[in-house]
Amino acid sequence: MRVLEDVPLAPYTTFGIGGPARWFVEAHREDEVLDAVRFACEHSAPLFVLGGGSNLLVSDEGFPGVVLRIALSGIEQNGNIFSVAAGEPWDAFVSRAVAENYSGIECLAGIPGSVGGTPVQNVGAYGQEVADTIRSVRAFDTKSDRFVTLSADECGFGYRESVFNTTARGRYIVTSVEYGLNPGGDPAISYADLKQYFQDANTPPTLQQVSDAVREIRHGKGMLIVDGDPDCKSAGSFFKNPVISLEHFAKIVSLVGGQNVPHYPVGREQVKVPAAWLLDQAGFHKGYVMGRAGISSRHTLALINRNGASAKDIVALRDRIVATVEKKFAIHLEPEPVWVGKPL
Ligand SMILES: Cc1cc2nc3c(=O)[nH]c(=O)nc-3n(C[C@H](O)[C@H](O)[C@H](O)COP(=O)(O)OP(=O)(O)OC[C@H]3O[C@@H](n4cnc5c(N)ncnc54)[C@H](O)[C@@H]3O)c2cc1C
Repeated sequence: MRVLEDVPLAPYTTFGIGGPARWFVEAHREDEVLDAVRFACEHSAPLFVLGGGSNLLVSDEGFPGVVLRIALSGIEQNGNIFSVAAGEPWDAFVSRAVAENYSGIECLAGIPGSVGGTPVQNVGAYGQEVADTIRSVRAFDTKSDRFVTLSADECGFGYRESVFNTTARGRYIVTSVEYGLNPGGDPAISYADLKQYFQDANTPPTLQQVSDAVREIRHGKGMLIVDGDPDCKSAGSFFKNPVISLEHFAKIVSLVGGQNVPHYPVGREQVKVPAAWLLDQAGFHKGYVMGRAGISSRHTLALINRNGASAKDIVALRDRIVATVEKKFAIHLEPEPVWVGKPL
């Protein structure tokens, strides 16, 4: 294991923001994961597991411990079961599955990051989420000090959550994920944007066409990482869509003069309201600028690093948005990206 010191983290993140890691190691094999854990223990240092850095906001002061970058590679296929090493790029795996005509993850095309990052927040988009296809997750359990395999049930998947980012946050280091895909299965076109895209098609779209359409739609929204595109220097959607009670929802409807407020039922008693709608209503529109931070010109929910922004700049914009939405709607927006380093 090669241990580097004071490695700037900004280049390892899609935001392009963040100070140095005190120590930085890469694991290409499982035994190197173990070495990194031992190293952190010996130095009584905190350990942070880095995937593709696409869901992170790293402090300007950096991280005072060991950053372990997961670089394990390899895909094993056994029939429709794909066992994928955590360091594989997620989007490349989606492309392979689609090219080989396996359905189940075609709508998750174009999402940046690593395979190991996907179970953490139960990555989802355009009507699919990885919880639909994950069969199990192999990980190093820092509590029991051994490698374990968690079944999909044990992963506790929910909307943008799992045990990995809630009850057992920081406990597991994912080394591979097993997905069960459907050979020759039909593509999913449940999501409104996709239905609209194919509304004039004479024949049902193929898996490849659906996955290409997702990429195109994402590109239109600045949600596909393209070199030189200023709108994708972000961590994707910055806020989770809040879930509120029906009573609270009724108050919001009356507050906006009975307008049609977008919402999705969550069980019988609650609804999910798009955070993007709340931002718009609170005056935070596409292209909003606050110094070096801003909002993407193509997606209200993506906070962006406009030009050399610091984590502090992004946090100042975050706080302005959270406070304004809370004052107007009594809803406290929760950020989606993971904060790394000393909290601001
Ligand atoms: C342009 C853009 C579009 C996006 N669109 C979407 C979208 O449509 N849907 C969606 O759900 N997300 C989206 N995201 C967010 C992000 O891509 C996903 O959350 C992705 O899965 C994060 O994976 P990562 O490897 O980059 O993880 P990182 O950002 O490196 O890490 C995120 C968290 O996961 C943990 N982690 C990462 N790898 C491991 C591992 N091997 N073991 C244990 N913990 C690990 C980290 O410690 C951290 O807590 C988008 C981001 C961007 C920049």
